[in-house]
Amino acid sequence: TAEDGVRRRVLLKLSGEALAGGGALGVDPDVVHAIAREIAAVVRSGTQVAVVVGGGNFFRGAELQVRGMDRARSDYMGMLGTVMNCLALQDFLIKEGVETRVQTAITMGQVAEPYLPLRAVRHLEKGRVVIFGAGMGMPYFSTDTTAAQRALEIQAEALLMGKNGVDGVYDSDPKANPDAVKFDALEYSEVLTRDLRVADATAITLCRDNDLPILVFELLTEGNIARAVRGEKIGTLISR
Ligand code: UDP
Repeated sequence: TAEDGVRRRVLLKLSGEALAGGGALGVDPDVVHAIAREIAAVVRSGTQVAVVVGGGNFFRGAELQVRGMDRARSDYMGMLGTVMNCLALQDFLIKEGVETRVQTAITMGQVAEPYLPLRAVRHLEKGRVVIFGAGMGMPYFSTDTTAAQRALEIQAEALLMGKNGVDGVYDSDPKANPDAVKFDALEYSEVLTRDLRVADATAITLCRDNDLPILVFELLTEGNIARAVRGEKIGTLISR
C-alpha cells in the first residue's frame, strides 16, 4: 500500500450469488456489467486487480450432497459453475476496454489459460485483469479459501470481499435481527471464536497466519470497489 493508502494490487472476491442478481438466468448481465464498469475504473486509476469468483448461483457441492450426490463430484460441478461466471465477467470487462485473462485451476484450454501464478502476475503488471476460476481445483474447498490463497500467492495487499445486500460483518444476522451491531474492525481470532459468518474458517486461518487483511463490504453500492481500493473506511476490516 502506498503512502496515500491506495492499494496497488488487490484480490477481489465476488460471490456467485452477487452475480445472480434477482434474475433466473444464473448470471444477471446488468449486475455483471455494473461490476465490470467499476473494476475497469479502478484498473484505469492504476490499481492491479485480480478476481476470484464463486459459483453458488449454480451449484454448491454441500447442497447437492444433502440431496444424495457424491460430494467430490458435486464439488467439481460447483467449480465448473464458477467458470461460467468468469466468462461473463471477462466479457463485460473486455467491453469496457480492459484486457482480461481467465485462469482456471482445472485446465480447459479452449476457454481459459491454466492457473500459472507467475504469468498471472505478468498480466497484472501489464494492467490486465486476471480472473481465477474453478476454485482451487480441489473438492472440499471453497472459493473464499481460493481467494485467500490466490491473494497470498500473487502478493495482493488485501482481500476485498464484496457482499451482496450487507455492508460488513455484524454480531448477528442483520436481516433476521434489527438490533444487530456492525463491526468497523475485527481481529481474525474474533471472527473464528465468535463463529461470524464471513468466510469459512480455512480462509480466515490462512489470512491470519499470513497477515493478509480482509475488507468485507457491500459490493453493489456504486463506487464501493473504488472506495475499498482507496482504503476508505467502509465495511469491516479484519486484521491482526
Ligand atoms: N468448490 C470446490 N473447491 C474449490 C472451490 C469451490 O469444491 O476450491 C465448489 C464447492 O462445491 C462450492 C462451489 O464450488 O460450493 C461453489 O463455490 P462457493 O460455494 O465458494 O461459491 P460462492 O458461495 O462464493 O458463490
